[in-house]
Amino acid sequence: MFTHHCTACDKTQLIFFSQVTGLAEVDHGTAVTFTCWCGSEQTWVAGQRSTDARVAA
Ligand SMILES: [Zn+2]
Repeated sequence: MFTHHCTACDKTQLIFFSQVTGLAEVDHGTAVTFTCWCGSEQTWVAGQRSTDARVAA
């Protein structure tokens, strides 16, 4: 899990992997798409150290 500042509800909240709806490789890591607690779809890009990350959603 990780924290994310939602652009819709303007809150920083803890996001669980059960909320993740998609993963995609991007230039700087892995883009994680998830549904915020408010229902808004958000995207968070995992950092550079995650080149070998395997997320079990
Ligand atoms: Zn939100």
